[in-house]
Amino acid sequence: MSDLPFLVALFVAVAIGWWLGRRELKKRSGIGASAPYDYFEGLNFLLKEQADATIEMFLNAMGADTNAVDTHLALGRLFRARGEVDKATRVHQALLARQGLARDKLLLAQFELANDYMAAGLLDRAERLLKDLGDESGEVKWRSIELLMDIYQQEKDWDRAISCALSLLPKQGPEIRPVLAHYCCEKAILLMANDENTPARRELNRALNYDASCVRASLLKGHLEAQTGHYREAIKAFRRVKEQDPSYLPESIPRLSDCYRKLGKDKEHKEFLLDCLQKKPSITLVFAVADILYGKPEQKDQARQFIVEQLANRPSLKGVLHLIDIHLAAEKETGDSHLSELRKLMAQLIEAKPVYRCSNCGYSGKHLVWLCPGCQRWGKIKPIYGLEGE
Ligand SMILES: [Zn+2]
Repeated sequence: MSDLPFLVALFVAVAIGWWLGRRELKKRSGIGASAPYDYFEGLNFLLKEQADATIEMFLNAMGADTNAVDTHLALGRLFRARGEVDKATRVHQALLARQGLARDKLLLAQFELANDYMAAGLLDRAERLLKDLGDESGEVKWRSIELLMDIYQQEKDWDRAISCALSLLPKQGPEIRPVLAHYCCEKAILLMANDENTPARRELNRALNYDASCVRASLLKGHLEAQTGHYREAIKAFRRVKEQDPSYLPESIPRLSDCYRKLGKDKEHKEFLLDCLQKKPSITLVFAVADILYGKPEQKDQARQFIVEQLANRPSLKGVLHLIDIHLAAEKETGDSHLSELRKLMAQLIEAKPVYRCSNCGYSGKHLVWLCPGCQRWGKIKPIYGLEGE
């Protein structure tokens, strides 16, 4: 209880609550109601930063009318926002212990208490409360199902998370469909780890049914089919990324190229890569195209020329590193130590840079994760483009 903004906000919240309550009482009784002694005593404690005593005073001093209850709810939320979850819990529990609380306020207090339990990591308690609230109606029902879904997501209980998402589907279709698709992908990953390939395929198809633009489902499907030797199917899945979201092409191209090589379909491979390079140029694509056009040892000069031309349009650190590698390979016999040093420096520079960034909150990292650790949104982290990326 040390920073001024919180004290001011709290003071204003309770003062307004008390004033509204007083006005209500005045209207009903026709006489001026004075603030109870306990109320001012509470404020006194508050200003002396004795939070525990303050809560007790407020709880005792304020009545059970609507304004007082709203003030309690605001007070509880304020405590929770400050990380003082135990105090928030006490406020909400005290509210629930009140006699004669209106039904809508009772449900709201239960919902806030479930939030407190979640903040405290008491997921089983939160789950019990939210399950009951999910059977109610109105806004509190939907918000409770959303929170319940968060809990199941944290617990990686994908079946239950899917069932919550399906309940939310009629109300929040566009936002919930991508989330549902990711839950199906999570299930598919577990199934693939146990070699249960047929149910894994079913989950991935389900993911694509919920969200046709789910790149993750296509990448997983491609990986699964390639692993089981179904290269044609794998190619179909990896190619889909170009239509779904071409900024993820660097994720699919290297594996797609492997499948094409296994099938010996050079012409189709080349056409597809050139088409992608037109649509969404990236350094990964430039390497792949250079490899298919000039992959033979005697074509090193042409490969180098092609990369130099591409780098002139889109400068890239990774591209320069690749060029150094080509030079080093060509000059192995002469043992150019300066070039080796330059390569080492360049590699260090690239190593220090993030590769992926969240388009929603800006979180960046070196690995592709589908649930952003920064903003907890699914499918917002993408490969970084530009000088230091693709
Ligand atoms: Zn984010």
